[in-house]
Amino acid sequence: MEPCEKVKWMQLPREVLVGHGVLEEIGRVCRHLGLRGGATVVTGARYTRKIAGERVVEILADSGYEVQLVEVQAINPDSIERVREIIKENKMSFVLGVGGGTIIDTAKITSFELGIPFISVPTIASHDGIASPRASIKGDDRSPVSRQAQAPLAVIADTRIISSAPFRFTAAGCGDILANYTAVRDWQLAQRLQNAEFSSYAAALSEMTANMILENAAKIKKRDEKAAWTVVKALVSSGVAISIAGSSAPASGSEHKFSHALDMIADKPALHGEQCGVGTIMMSYLYGDDWQRIRDTLKEIGAPTTAKELGIKDEYIIEALTIAHKINPERYTILGESGLTKEAAVRLALATGVIE
Ligand SMILES: [Zn+2]
Repeated sequence: MEPCEKVKWMQLPREVLVGHGVLEEIGRVCRHLGLRGGATVVTGARYTRKIAGERVVEILADSGYEVQLVEVQAINPDSIERVREIIKENKMSFVLGVGGGTIIDTAKITSFELGIPFISVPTIASHDGIASPRASIKGDDRSPVSRQAQAPLAVIADTRIISSAPFRFTAAGCGDILANYTAVRDWQLAQRLQNAEFSSYAAALSEMTANMILENAAKIKKRDEKAAWTVVKALVSSGVAISIAGSSAPASGSEHKFSHALDMIADKPALHGEQCGVGTIMMSYLYGDDWQRIRDTLKEIGAPTTAKELGIKDEYIIEALTIAHKINPERYTILGESGLTKEAAVRLALATGVIE
């Protein structure tokens, strides 16, 4: 018999709770997971601390855990080191990230570095990092560094809290999910042209997740808990696709490179998911796909589809399109190795109505 030497290690969340008031279950979830010792709750300085961070501390204390709260405002090597030292000094045995992307990623990275479990408690549904094993921090030149961390042991997404956050975040989350379409196209291309490792299972899950948003766009509305539910479920599912693939490839391709390029050059970048949504419109156009449907879906949801709506100057859009291929160059996409010329970038942005 031929031996098969393939080895694959997938790390997935074990408990996923999505729904109204599930935050209250946090103590029970930790007990159920057999977690012992002290818990560090990483949360934001103001809003997230008030709406969720403090409550999580209370519940865990009531469940008999020693709890420590740490506030985080930005993610960078210094803040990560500070949080890591606090956890280490106090000999805490697990970490909860209660808040938005910065907070979740800080908790994810520090817990990974210390080799202790991490629980994700998102208060907004703005990107797929809430359930994935990857985290991103910015380098000195504002370039994003995506790094392998660990999947959360549990995800506790309270739709009551998420639906009361500004809708802009949820709409951005939809952009991050629709990005799966072009990400999967890029991934397939990379497999065909560069023999990149490809997982049809992860790709199918990723596309199916994007379909959930495409098909339910009309129902994704402000102040609607069901909408928050749909988007959170899709974000978790995207995170699982990333876990299965063992890389962010099923959810991050040329459209993400475009967004990362904007983060580096624009004076005031928009939200990650908002930029990825606009990137998806343009990359779909390059593929000759139904880019109008992506645009119309984003419009229907209320996410930006133009430079103006992103609040970003046209020239930054063009520049980002021409430099995007240089970001994370080992990930092959439709932008190829030399990227777009300025003329092609202008034509693309005009043709898709991103600029006028
Ligand atoms: Zn993303």
